[in-house]
Amino acid sequence: MYEISGSLILVVDHSRLFRTMLCQFLTDQGYKVCEASSGKEAIEVFDRTSPKMVLMGVVMSKTDGISSLDACRRIREIDRDEYSPVLIVTSTQNEDLIAAAFEAGAADYIMKPIQWNLLEHSIKFKLQSSKAAYALQASEERFRQLFEDSPLPYQAMDDHGRVVDVNAAWLEMMGMISDQVVGQSFGELMDANEWRKFMHMFPSFIKNGALANFQLTINHADGTPLIIELNGRVAYDIHGDFKQTHCVLQNITERMAIEHELRRLATSDPLTGLANRRAFFTEADHALLQCARYHHDYTVMMLDIDHFKSINDTFGHDVGDQVLKLVSNEMQQQIRAVDILGRLGGEEFAIALPEADISTATTVAERIRIAVEAFSLDTEQGCVRFTISIGLSQLSDAKSNEALIKKADELLYQAKQNGRNRIETTLA
Ligand code: GH3
Ligand code: MG
Ligand code: MG
Repeated sequence: MYEISGSLILVVDHSRLFRTMLCQFLTDQGYKVCEASSGKEAIEVFDRTSPKMVLMGVVMSKTDGISSLDACRRIREIDRDEYSPVLIVTSTQNEDLIAAAFEAGAADYIMKPIQWNLLEHSIKFKLQSSKAAYALQASEERFRQLFEDSPLPYQAMDDHGRVVDVNAAWLEMMGMISDQVVGQSFGELMDANEWRKFMHMFPSFIKNGALANFQLTINHADGTPLIIELNGRVAYDIHGDFKQTHCVLQNITERMAIEHELRRLATSDPLTGLANRRAFFTEADHALLQCARYHHDYTVMMLDIDHFKSINDTFGHDVGDQVLKLVSNEMQQQIRAVDILGRLGGEEFAIALPEADISTATTVAERIRIAVEAFSLDTEQGCVRFTISIGLSQLSDAKSNEALIKKADELLYQAKQNGRNRIETTLA
């Protein structure tokens, strides 16, 4: 704890009389005092007793080669954190001398003859300031200790994104030692694109003073990419200026992988890996909305393997599964990246083709039909051949994917009626 009343104050002056006067005054104010009559002694007493303030009068450099300003300079070196202000007591108004005192690290100066009531306020004010600085430092130390011991990886950065501090949990997560990272740019830990993304965000972090759930991919020492989530705050110094950023990093790589896998399981068909019925409609509805809004073409096709039941019956269910995979692969090969392919049920598939008119889509359908017709699958029971029938509808036929699929399904039924291995469309 830092108590102002009862603080120890070091009084330095070559004149015993002057020291006694100052000490008497300070004691009356409730302070404790210690004294030094030379620069050398002042440094020694300061070092030994750690007073909360120094009143530096005149000391003769000829006694030990140490002037008042030399002593002040040396005290500042010992007391790096600047919690013990040195007040120079001077009888000169000489600006150069006063400037030199500040240069030497003095916090203020007191003119002789001393105005005692002013001195009282000056001392109290200076002690309060150092108490505040001390409290801030103590709080920062507690904060640092908290992070050092934290099981959460923590890093501090300067305003250029250079890492200035990391804790043990951080080093453990990254498989590094402190020297590999402290002093380096945070950008060294990631690919150029990720760094660009980070630097794009960084100014607003500094401006807003806080950062929440920012995701970034950084590289472990062994090169493994880690997806991390950053949460942070900006620390300011006693003047309210930027000091550094404090960030906690959470490794969410595993969580992201699980989420990805769950999403995949929920949206895809396990046998073929294609979008399932629900995922197909979600994606296709999005595409249809876009096309309808801009009056663009949009076509849907329904595909169904011919006599698939007899493939199962003749060659077994496993061969049937292989056929489903072969056909799925082929369809995937024949369509564009923007097209949406899904397995709607057993041996029924649908493809949504945004920006494709019905004649373009028919060309695609025809390519699929020919490719499927050309397949032959060798099995123990002999060679399996199969064909596919396809129905197509376009946006002018109906407004929703459900209605378009229904229309395409009717045309698919017609294709079956008309002999299978063929395409039927709404095109006249
Ligand atoms: P059509 O030419 O009229 O389409 O006749 P089809 O035999 O293909 O049609 P049908 O609807 O009668 O038979 C579909 C068969 O698909 C019945 C079902 O057992 C089979 N099936 C559905 N899902 C799977 C699957 O995942 N694997 C396998 N091997 N067969 C499946
Ligand atoms: Mg069928
Ligand atoms: Mg069917």
